[in-house]
Amino acid sequence: MDTKKEKVADSVPATRVGFIGLGVMGRPMARNLLKANFPLAVYDLNRPAVEEIVTLGASDAGSITGAAAADVVVTMLPDTPDVEAVIFGDQGLAGSMRRGSILIDMSSISPVATRRFAAALAERGVSMLDAPVSGGFQGAEAGTLSIMIGGEAEALERCRSVLEAMGKTINHIGQSGAGQVCKVCNQVVVAINIQAVAEALTLAKKNGVDPGKVRDALLGGFARSTALDLHGKRVLDDNFAAGFRVNLQRKDLRLALETGAATGTPLPATALIQELYGILAATGRGGMDNSSLALLMQEFSGARGDGSA
Ligand code: NAD
Repeated sequence: MDTKKEKVADSVPATRVGFIGLGVMGRPMARNLLKANFPLAVYDLNRPAVEEIVTLGASDAGSITGAAAADVVVTMLPDTPDVEAVIFGDQGLAGSMRRGSILIDMSSISPVATRRFAAALAERGVSMLDAPVSGGFQGAEAGTLSIMIGGEAEALERCRSVLEAMGKTINHIGQSGAGQVCKVCNQVVVAINIQAVAEALTLAKKNGVDPGKVRDALLGGFARSTALDLHGKRVLDDNFAAGFRVNLQRKDLRLALETGAATGTPLPATALIQELYGILAATGRGGMDNSSLALLMQEFSGARGDGSA
């Protein structure tokens, strides 16, 4: 019989983590870092979000500079100007992070700006990884996010355990900006899929065919997709409450179109869908789920609420 006492897995990872941006995604991600025993210092402009995570065991960084004292700083902010302000604004990360420390920006922002930020930080001895995610709030909660990384492999290896506490699939895509390019590619595929589902289920309805039966049949064949499964279900349930908001999707498609324009890559389907999301926003529906494209298709075709289906 083995008499050796089983070692209790209570060791604290040495890496100190600073976390800035405790929104819909950032809060569950921070909770997962605490569950993995990382010493965590958090900051957000929104005090209640900070207090919630401090109650769970994090320390209150009090400022961006306070969070910058860590070995690894994670940012999870809305858009490019927010990340730029946190890095390069007064009392920003650029002036306060130590040489040899790592910034992991997990926000979905411009790949072009990301390369600029990483180059400026490298001059100060700070490594920056772009690490946007897919998987939504559910993936953030479950710690199963898909993380798309751009930056130096050596920096990734130094902070892999931090990423593993938040995500299940960690893909090193390439050099700085490559993670953000991957993320905009992801959004192009997702948005075009959602529009395809919106058109197909509206077409079924207008032809007096049960959209539920069409969805079931398509899920068993070549047309199977996550959008058909999840967003198709929303269409059948007439449930367009967010979810992933139209306005966030518009931001991501804007980034895709800007990235395309910067490299001479036409994205005609993406451009059309961005216009459709623009109609949703202009008609007061920017806060609804991104599957609301189906609402527009139903309205455009007269399939909504007029008994024509
Ligand atoms: P959010 O708006 O809920 O959270 C952003 C947080 O950043 C807020 O708490 C805000 O107070 C804070 N913040 C903004 N500026 C700040 C500053 N200067 N200093 C400190 N804190 C600041 O956004 P979210 O839904 O958590 O998304 C964050 C990022 O993740 C976005 O880029 C988004 O596109 C991306 N994303 C979101 C989802 C999703 O399902 N929500 C999925 C994948 C990726």
